[in-house]
Amino acid sequence: MKLRPMLELRGASRRHGDFDSGVQALQATDLTLHAGTLVAITGPSGSGKSTLLNLLGLLDTPSAGSYRVAGHHTDNLDAEALALLRREYFGFVFQRYQLLPHLSALENVELPASYAGVDAQQRRRQALAMLERVGLAHRARHRPAALSGGEQQRVALARALVNGAPVLLADEPTGALDRAAGRALMDLLLELQMAGRTIVVVTHDPAVAAYAERVIEMQDGRIVADRSQRRSAHLAPAGAIRSARPVRRRRVQRTLRERVLELARMALPALAGHPLRTALTMLGVIIGTASVVGIDAIGAGAQEHIRQTVGALAGRQIEVRRGHDWGDPKAASVHTLAQPDFDLLSGLDYLDAVSPLTETAVRLRRGRFDEAATVNSVGTDFLRARGIGLADGRNLMPLDVEGAERVALIDQASRRRLFEIWEEPVGATLLVGKVPFVIVGVTDARTQDQFSSRGLNVVVPYTTGAAVLSGRPWFDTIVARLRPGVGNRLAETAITRQLLISHGSQDFFTHNLDTVAETVARTTQTTSLMLSLIGAIALLVGGIGVMNIMLVSVVERTREIGVRLAVGGHPGDILAQFLSEAILVCTLGGGAGVVLAFGMAPLLSHFVQDWNMSFTLAAVLKALLVAVLTGLAFGWLPAWRASRLPPVQALAAL
Ligand code: ADP
Ligand code: MG
Repeated sequence: MKLRPMLELRGASRRHGDFDSGVQALQATDLTLHAGTLVAITGPSGSGKSTLLNLLGLLDTPSAGSYRVAGHHTDNLDAEALALLRREYFGFVFQRYQLLPHLSALENVELPASYAGVDAQQRRRQALAMLERVGLAHRARHRPAALSGGEQQRVALARALVNGAPVLLADEPTGALDRAAGRALMDLLLELQMAGRTIVVVTHDPAVAAYAERVIEMQDGRIVADRSQRRSAHLAPAGAIRSARPVRRRRVQRTLRERVLELARMALPALAGHPLRTALTMLGVIIGTASVVGIDAIGAGAQEHIRQTVGALAGRQIEVRRGHDWGDPKAASVHTLAQPDFDLLSGLDYLDAVSPLTETAVRLRRGRFDEAATVNSVGTDFLRARGIGLADGRNLMPLDVEGAERVALIDQASRRRLFEIWEEPVGATLLVGKVPFVIVGVTDARTQDQFSSRGLNVVVPYTTGAAVLSGRPWFDTIVARLRPGVGNRLAETAITRQLLISHGSQDFFTHNLDTVAETVARTTQTTSLMLSLIGAIALLVGGIGVMNIMLVSVVERTREIGVRLAVGGHPGDILAQFLSEAILVCTLGGGAGVVLAFGMAPLLSHFVQDWNMSFTLAAVLKALLVAVLTGLAFGWLPAWRASRLPPVQALAAL
């Protein structure tokens, strides 16, 4: 019978360490192994047996020479391609079993099938069948620590076989077992060979080597003897020879949701294993996301506040002021903003309500009351332009303006300060400065914010104001309200052009943020800025914390990474595993941060006394997204490092 070469090593050598101080663990070696044989590699310790076996199993690559697996060239393949071949062709059994301690026997056996993309039910069945085959079905739920050495090694064997790999590589598989357990294992290997598997066993035990049909002896990195032997008859397996058919794997396309769930299921125990460490790691992320939620809640609360107080008017007001800009020192000497401008703007059809506005500081007197206040000298459309409501009495009328009547509206604040609760202000007389005015109306408390001045406010006809209070006919400001559907910017440009023509120079400026929005924006800005700063710093510190802990975790779990690579995990799988741990930590931290933000709302509200914070679902989602991105950003480096570990070195780690 012509045997097909399964593994072919040509002139392969392996040097460990650097050029002058390194060790030549394997000299240029040729070796051909055929499918279906059981081969033993023997030799003294340090002779290069493990090095050779690792090269055969693609856990390591030769420094020179070439290697073919079932005809596939392996030279110059990248880590992913090597991992793919390794998963396809090899199962490993190690002297120290290399089971993952936090997984049950069954879960350990399932691992390679999981990496191979077999769905959960199918791989559970396969793993159970394999455990049954090695006689351990009754121990499936036990952790490795609860199993004897022989049992652990049989679990490791089941794991090596579950994907139906045609080649089994075993490095001193009986080295840690007693005689009986060693025999039991070798009987299993023999049975597997009869079923068609190719098996390579490294051993220095002659009793183990006696099972092989071919014994290769090594010394100082060379093959010094290679002989075929007749197996003694008593070693033939007692049971019937089983079918050579390897386990069929059914590959299914897993959905994204299944894959995410699986990664989460893998990541959770790793985090739960170190609860305190995990909690401390999360701290920065918690504070960071709480800030993100807080910023949003304050912003949303401010919007709500604006909407309630200004209503549809928000952003629909335009003002024309004297001077070049805010704080222009020459503004006071500009006298050109006057009646002609008011007439001009009143005639524009895209403006709905236009009114002059001159503010004068005065004292209000009534009986024993004496209060500082601001007089707003305005036209009849002022209340409408500003969106100020009337609570009592009437608005100013055209006749009041034409006749410069001494009539006034007072605001709620003035009403409270100048009148007893039972007194009726409308019809009463009030001294504004030295001039008596009759109160004709009281404005609404809810729209109080629309006055520019925070103190007491009185509203009088601008003609009266000019005659008896300010003594000047020009205005500080002209306020106007845009007609619905008119663009803010467009209106401003048009107004500027019109006034420029009549003034001949730009001694005025326009401004369109209404006063409430302005103060709200100011308060929101400082608070948000503070929170943003806290949030950014916390997220940075938290992210670095996550990165730091993940780096430690990678070092701690180097062996685990090696095992995962040996049982069919790809570098991409390792990357995904560590990245999902980082993301999970951050997402949990984000969740806690959201809870914290809700809990701290009363404290934060302190900064923004005027309105409530308003939590939105969008803010919560945004905070969680920020948390996930933090995990992604800061988990990347550790995960990437984990995925780049060379399998042999990772496996050798303590
Ligand atoms: P065996 O399995 O036959 O005991 P090994 O293949 O493990 O031998 O090792 C062969 C030689 O290579 C030994 O001298 C060992 O010290 C050396 N060696 C193995 N691995 C490394 C390594 N990662 N770095 C440096 N030297 C190594
Ligand atoms: Mg060895």
